[in-house]
This record gives sequence, C-alpha cells and structure tokens, in this order.
Amino acid sequence: MTRFIFITGGVVSSLGKGLASAALGALLQARGYKVRLRKLDPYINVDPGTMSPYQHGEVYVTDDGAETDLDLGHYERFTGVPATRADNVTTGRIYQTVIARERRGDYLGATVQVIPHITDAIKAFIRSDVGEVDFVLVEVGGTVGDIEGLPFFEAIRQAGIEMGRDRALFVHLTLVPFIAAAGELKTKPTQHSVKELRSIGIQPDILLCRSDRPIPESDRRKMALFCNVRPEAVIQALDVRTIYEVPIAYHREGFDDQILRHFGLTDAPPPDLARWQEVVERVLSPEGEVTIAVVGKYTVLKDAYKSLAEALTHGGIANNVRVNLEWVDSSIFETDERLTVQHLDGVHGILVPGGFGERGAEGKIRAVTFARERKVPYFGICFGMQMAVIEAARNLAGINSASSTEFGATDEPVVGLMTEWMHDNQIQVRRQGGDLGGTMRLGGYVAALKPGSRAAEIYGRLSIRERHRHRFEVNTAYRERLEQAGMVFSGMSPDGLLPEIIELPDHPWFIGVQYHPELCSKPFEPHPLFASFIEAAVRQSRLV
Ligand code: GLN
Repeated sequence: MTRFIFITGGVVSSLGKGLASAALGALLQARGYKVRLRKLDPYINVDPGTMSPYQHGEVYVTDDGAETDLDLGHYERFTGVPATRADNVTTGRIYQTVIARERRGDYLGATVQVIPHITDAIKAFIRSDVGEVDFVLVEVGGTVGDIEGLPFFEAIRQAGIEMGRDRALFVHLTLVPFIAAAGELKTKPTQHSVKELRSIGIQPDILLCRSDRPIPESDRRKMALFCNVRPEAVIQALDVRTIYEVPIAYHREGFDDQILRHFGLTDAPPPDLARWQEVVERVLSPEGEVTIAVVGKYTVLKDAYKSLAEALTHGGIANNVRVNLEWVDSSIFETDERLTVQHLDGVHGILVPGGFGERGAEGKIRAVTFARERKVPYFGICFGMQMAVIEAARNLAGINSASSTEFGATDEPVVGLMTEWMHDNQIQVRRQGGDLGGTMRLGGYVAALKPGSRAAEIYGRLSIRERHRHRFEVNTAYRERLEQAGMVFSGMSPDGLLPEIIELPDHPWFIGVQYHPELCSKPFEPHPLFASFIEAAVRQSRLV
C-alpha cells in the first residue's frame, strides 16, 4: 500500500521545505521503505525553464528531460531516487492540461471550474505514475494563505479524505521565532498558520517547527493544544551545521517515529543512518581545504548554482577536504585584464559553469586563458566547455574570430546551433527562433568515451549517460583543427556528431563537458568528475 505524506509550509517562505521533505524521504529510506518525492508549484509558468535563475534559483533537469524546480535536486541528492517529469507540476501545466481537454470537448458541455476540474487534475497528478513505493512525499510550494496555492490545498484536502487517515498524513512546517526584546520564543505565528490551514479544511497531523534554539516543553504543549495535535507530534527542527545532518536531527526529535505511528507501522526497525553519519563527519572535520573560483554570471543568488555548489562539496567529501567557493562575476575581467590575475591568482581550481547569453562571456574566456596558461585545474560545464573551445580555437588554433552563434552571426561558428540530432533512436528537430520553453537539448544522453583519455580513466568506463540543457553545440567542422592544436575530443555522442567532452592532455587537469554532471552527484556517491577535479585542486594547493 502506498501512503501519502503532504508537506505544507506556513508563517514565512524560505524555511527549507524542500530540504525538510528530502531529509524525511532519506530518513524513511533509512528505515527500509521505498520513497518517491514530488512537488506541486502554484506559480503560473508551465515549468521553471523560462524563469530567471536570479529569481527562482537553478532549473533542475531530470533524466527524462523535464525542467523542474530545484527542490527536485534536493530530493535526488538525499534519496538517490531519480526524479522524473511526473514529479513536478505547476498551475500553468495543470491549466494547460484542463484547457486542452476543454477544447477537445472532453467535458461534454460542462462548465469547467476550479472545483472539481482543476482540483481533479491536481489529484490525478498526485496519484499518477507512483510505481511500487511505500511512501509518496508531496510538497506544496509557497505558504498557506497564498491565493495561487488555494486549488492545491483544496486538492490535497480532498485527496486526504479520499485516501483516509491510514493512507494520508499532513505535515506543516512553521517558524517559531525568538524575539530578543521579550527574550522568548513565540508560538503565535504557528497558531495562526495552523488556523489558516484548518480554515481551508486541513488539520495537520505533525508540526515541524523551525527554530534557532530549543523549544521548551511548555511551548510545545501550548502549540499542541492550540493547533489540535498531539504534544509528541510537535517536532522541533533546529538549525544544523550542515544540511546533511538534517535526517539525523529529525530522527533524534522523533519525526520518523511519529510518522510511522500515525500509519500504525510501529514495529519498523530503527533507521540505519551510518551513511549520513559518515557524510556529516567528513563535512565537519576535513583534513584540509581548497579554494575554487566559480566564474559565472548569477553570482548574487547562490541558489542559481545549487547543484553545482553541492557537487563541489561532494568532491570535497571524496577527498576529505573543505571546498571554499569564490564566486566571481566574469564581467569584471572584461574591464581590466589585471583584475583577472588579481581574482584568480592563488585559487586551486577554476570552474566556469553553465550560462546563457553574451554578457560576461569574454570574461569567462579570459578565465579559461588564465587556467590554461598557468596550469590551474579547469572544469568547464556546458557554457564553460563552449568557452574553453572558443578560447582554444582563438589562442591555440589561430582562429582569431572564433565565436558562438549564441552571440550573433559569426564567420567562425566554433559553437553553433544544431537543428537536428538523435535521441534514443529518434530524430529531434529544433527550429531557429522557435519557442524558448522546452526546446533545448534536454535530459539524459549517452556518450561514448575515447579509450585511454583522462575522461575514460576518471569514469572508469567507456559509455556514460549524463543530463543536458543547452541549445548550442561545439561544431565538429572545427574538430580537426582543434585536435591539431592539442585538444582531445574524449567524449562524443554515439553517432559521433555532438562533442560531449573535451580535454587538454598537456595540462594538470583541463576538462570541459557539454552536460551537467552536478545534477547527478550525491553526498554518499560524489560524481567522479567532481571527485577528480577536487583531487587535482588538492595537488595544486600543495604547489602554490
Ligand atoms: N548557452 C549555452 C547553450 O545554450 C550553454 C547552456 C548551458 O550552459 N546550460 O548551448
């Protein structure tokens, strides 16, 4: 029997509902259950693919090619269960589905309404494609009381009634703030938030209370009384030293016990948290540290590079070192060349991550030149690979005007728009000037690695599958000239048309990949490229 746990949030946003859901998933998994996590996003965009990472944070890409909310990244990192297209839905997608049905005449003349048509579509999504799992954790984005969230709250209310108490449970995440002037923690915001939730018909079963200090027993009893939950079901969620400590902290507070008790699963064995303990230990007591410069555009909002920052931490876990990140806005390198040296001198590795558009591109190319000439480990991801290829074309192969068609017409399209390619034996077509949403090369693609290359050595195999999200490709028409200049094409699409990995053998560590390896890295299973890059940074740190 599959049970559903609905997770809502109250009081304020940014309480870490996604992380809380992911950690609960990991905890149930540690007790031997199979879990699946999904997210309902109340915004009107069909998917976050067209949203600015400045505003919304990273777009997380699933293996089956969906552009989804970054919380799905947390889910995958904590549980190792690959997220799919079926695990994230937005108001936009729900309405798109309902309106398409209405146009087809599927509603047989009925007036199409939020209740029941929209709520039915939401419920159908929640229950769809669940597979053989013990628990589905469903996180509702936003905060209770948001107008746009109402249909989602109504849908989970109905779902809870239809499934019954032995199959559905509601967790509400709130904030218990400390008011310095009064010298006390305040429970009133939680009371109000639950009142709001109950006014739309949802009685939470468990309260998860974020707080920066322990919540006294008396406050817990008060919240239990006013919010109509059992005192043991008021769980404190205190701040922790690393996000990977959350599953352990939740277990200590009895969160999983309360969940299992609700479902009558009282004879479950205690969780095996050994792998989390080991990860936490490695994160908290490293044996050294390295500094990596991340040269990008969206450096003001770290969430724009969420998976990347985590993957670098995982690379540190693999090498027992702390990885300090220096976020550098590449456009500053364009004003004055000396600034490049000033910012990058002494770092142990340089990484240019994914990016879009011309702004800051020349600065990124300068960062590549610095890394190549000074033999500093370089990792180029997606746009970062494209910039590395343009840099090599200009400065090693003598193609002075080498550029990308992403930046406008060019005589030397070393990076260009591919309009047709193969995916899982099917031809994919992309039109110039087509819709922006969902028209990139998206999701998992297989690549064949060159025997004897550094990439093959790092992966330890010759066939890999990694996730993509980009429009442009390195143009194989330039392959021969780039190879003569010393660049190795160490990973290609199986048909040999699309370059997937490039490397410079005459360098301590210089690799560019067209895909996003950061999306698949896990704390307990660091991605080999990140582990190897940080290993190279450690070697570099012994030199400088
Ligand atoms: N802008 C580049 C492209 O579309 C790279 C995209 C990326 O880095 N994700 O190909």
